[in-house]
Amino acid sequence: SQRCIIVGAGHAAAQMVASLRSGGWDGEILLIGDEPSLPYQRPPLSKGYLGGEMTQQQLFIRPETFYQKHHVELLLNTRVSAIDRERKTVSTNKGEALDYDRLCLATGTRPRRLDCLPGAALNGIHYLRSAVDVERIRGELAGTKNAVIVGGGYIGLETAASLRKAGLQVTVVEAAERILQRVTSPQLSEFFRRLHREEGATILEGTGLAEFVGTNGRVNAVRTNGGELLPADLVIVGVGVEVNGELARDCGLEYDNGIVVDDYCRTSDEGIVAIGDCTYHYNAHYDRRLRLESVPNATEQAKIAAKTLCGKLQPYNSLPWFWSDQYDIKLQIAGLSQGYDEVVVKGDRESRSFCLYYLKAGRVIAADAVNSPRDFMQAKKLIQSRSGLPEEALA
Ligand code: FAD
Repeated sequence: SQRCIIVGAGHAAAQMVASLRSGGWDGEILLIGDEPSLPYQRPPLSKGYLGGEMTQQQLFIRPETFYQKHHVELLLNTRVSAIDRERKTVSTNKGEALDYDRLCLATGTRPRRLDCLPGAALNGIHYLRSAVDVERIRGELAGTKNAVIVGGGYIGLETAASLRKAGLQVTVVEAAERILQRVTSPQLSEFFRRLHREEGATILEGTGLAEFVGTNGRVNAVRTNGGELLPADLVIVGVGVEVNGELARDCGLEYDNGIVVDDYCRTSDEGIVAIGDCTYHYNAHYDRRLRLESVPNATEQAKIAAKTLCGKLQPYNSLPWFWSDQYDIKLQIAGLSQGYDEVVVKGDRESRSFCLYYLKAGRVIAADAVNSPRDFMQAKKLIQSRSGLPEEALA
């Protein structure tokens, strides 16, 4: 029988396994992942899991019995170190060479590191990508008073909210002019800046880091590029990601900002598909190639790639969407707002429930819905149907 090897055991891989079986793949499935645990949900890492409100069991995407029932062989704690496309084998860090008929790359991303800054090797400086990272951070919370979060993107801000809830003094240091600059409008940045200040966090924008300062091998402060010394018993860095793309690049697959895939999640080698955060793919709604860091995209691409391997080609055609939870705020984002020429606010920002619609040439291209799931659902439809805003929303 045929064997499909999936490299990386995260969100995309967990969905891939399920969709392969439901799509009729009756060959072997071998899932290889370098983390110690079953595939788990990452979004709660900066939210409920960091706050201690969830157990590890609750993080798992599917229970262990699921993999047994569907005859999926799991090789955890195992890293794939190379792909030989001619022989159709992958080799692992444990010295094995494993044959495949079909290969699926679901390797995701890793945090961009600040190793070049002085003091970067001090203890107490953390990155936040895996459950193990969070367990390490949680182990240091007792006795921590001051936390500095480097980076004011969604992960940094969610982490700030979780640590505030845990009673820490929290300072967010953002190098860009405003938090969330890369992903959203000044209006939404303004809302989150105010929210965090109301909840007692300090937000410093336009502030870079010069060094980490410590004694006896442990961090106790960070120095900003303006020379200010901020006390920090704990530092969490969230300054973006890099693609785990080395495997694909080294075996000569087409690569450009991510593993290049077509509408069917096929790489430049037709026996190899790629899915999730590691892919660079075309999106018809925005008529450009994108690399998305989101669970909905990982899940959707897995479904498409599984169909491809089962011989039932169906093109990818999803609207990007995201969410973020901070304090009592649930933000839902439909579409991508880059390039908008008009913003319309529906509802009242003071009430912590409103929606920002982004328009381009009169059509809705994206929306940020704050505690307003109905607006989010409606916005998705408006974007998909390439419509303008209905009268009642404009009023
Ligand atoms: P991953 O889940 O990263 O899985 C890839 C796996 O492959 C990893 O386990 C990696 O270690 C492994 N791997 C890599 N290379 C190898 C190799 N050579 N051999 C073996 N294994 C390998 N998204 C949202 O939509 N909403 C959110 O609210 C949200 N919050 C987030 C909060 C945090 C703290 C983080 C870190 C991410 C968040 N995301 C969120 C993003 C979301 O988690 C990712 O988009 C999603 O995990 C992507 O799935 P993936 O399978 O592509 O990659």
